[in-house]
Formats: sequence, C-alpha cells, structure tokens
Amino acid sequence: MAIAGSATAPEAASSPPDTLIRNVRIFDGTNASLTPPTNVLVTGDKIAAVGTATASGATVIDGAGRTLMPGLIDAHTHIMFISLPQVVLLTADVGFVNLAAAKAANDMLMRGFTSIRDLGGPSFGLKRAIDAGLAVGPRIWPSGAMISQTGGHGDFRLPTDLPAAPEHGIRTAWGTDILFSPAAATEQGAMLAKMAKWYSPIEALRMATRDNAELLALSGARSPYPGKLGVVEVGALADLLLVDGDPIADLTLVADPHKNLKLIMKGGRIYKNTL
Ligand SMILES: [Zn+2]
Repeated sequence: MAIAGSATAPEAASSPPDTLIRNVRIFDGTNASLTPPTNVLVTGDKIAAVGTATASGATVIDGAGRTLMPGLIDAHTHIMFISLPQVVLLTADVGFVNLAAAKAANDMLMRGFTSIRDLGGPSFGLKRAIDAGLAVGPRIWPSGAMISQTGGHGDFRLPTDLPAAPEHGIRTAWGTDILFSPAAATEQGAMLAKMAKWYSPIEALRMATRDNAELLALSGARSPYPGKLGVVEVGALADLLLVDGDPIADLTLVADPHKNLKLIMKGGRIYKNTL
C-alpha cells in the first residue's frame, strides 16, 4: 500500500520562474562603485547573466536605476531565541517556540537578510522547513549546541578588537547577536548602519555580503547550499535586494528595510516586491 500525502517540498518540487531585472546599478559585494545601469537575468535559483541580457518568457522587473545588491548575511544570530523573552523560552511548549522562531525568520528575510549563521539553538527543524518551502526565512547555517570557537558565541575578543580591525587590515565577520527581544530584532539593519562608526559604508557592506559569505563557505562540503553567496555575478545564487538609493553613499538605507528595500529575492524566488 502506498502512503499518500507525504510532505511535498514546494521549493524542491518547482523551480521559480525566470526573472529579468532591468535597469539596475549593481553593488556586486566587492567594488566600491556601482556599475552603470544594466540587466540581470535569474534562471532557476542562480544568476544566469549580467549585462545586456534579455529573456523571453521571464518575469520582467524594471529597477528604474535603483541599486541591486547581494542579500545581507548575519554571521551571528540565535534565530530560536531572538524574539521571545528568556522566561518564555524556558517554560513554553517547544511547538510554540518553533512557531515564534518561524515568524522571526520571516521578519529577518523581510529585513533583507537572506543568510544567517546560527550560533546556538535547536534551529535544524526551522532550517529544514525553510529549505522545504514550508516556512519563509533566510538560509540557515546552524551550529546546534552553543559553541565557543574563535569568533563564535562566547568569544568575547571580537567586540573589543573590532574597532582596531580596519586599521590593521584584518578581515572581520559581522553579526548582530540579538537575543530575547522582538524590539531589538527590528534593529538588525540599523546595527549594520551603526558600523559606520568604525568602517566606511563600503567596508560594512562588504562584511555583510562577500566577507560573511566567505566565512560561511569555510564549511566546505558541509554547506547545504551549493553556489556562491554574497556576490552579484554569473553563477552565484540569486539572493538579491533592490535598494531605493545607493547604500554605498548612504548606509542608513539598510536601517529601514521596510521602506528602502523594494525587492527581496532568495534563490531566485521573489519574497517582496513593492515596485
Ligand atoms: Zn551569541
């Protein structure tokens, strides 16, 4: 007897429609200046072309000269613990905790964070649900139990060393480490904008895109998401944001994602479009 009704993973079952994003200036994760207006073609979950690409049958989005950039990456999160007070986490039913975490993950993606490194907490179920298309949220690199390797949770050298890092040419990852507060969670983008105290906007943007992606790539063959992240280039995973303005000139744009992010795409699939 066949077992009917087994869980179908929507994202695994169908690939997103092709999308042609026209007339955008690109921050590619590295270069300090935006490209001239150009087009980006997304096929499946990857960037298929950058330049004079056209495609019949693709959904066409007119960027109207706005900035296209890689999705943001937060290298230090606790998605299971971010939105509930500690006393609730210690007493609540695990199902409730998971549903609250799913809402937090959705909110995080809507802030433009398409990947997160989770430094402690039972996020494997949530990650699986997101990857299967059952819940909406960023890609998650879970570490499971609380760990304390270099730069990890409990490594308290990073915050104090951080202001001196740029003058010594040290490449640093960037993460928010927000815990137990839905109010603080809404400040995720603002915390990146506040890096302007120590870094130039381009340095902060590189950290939250290309550099954090290189950190995630250190997991090598264990990475669950084959493809490059944190960059806009042919062959990279299509995790993309359309910003209403130039974040290299004005980093505060990332502090108000609800207003300034017009398009949010993850793996070629559009999760927000307010154009
Ligand atoms: Zn932490």
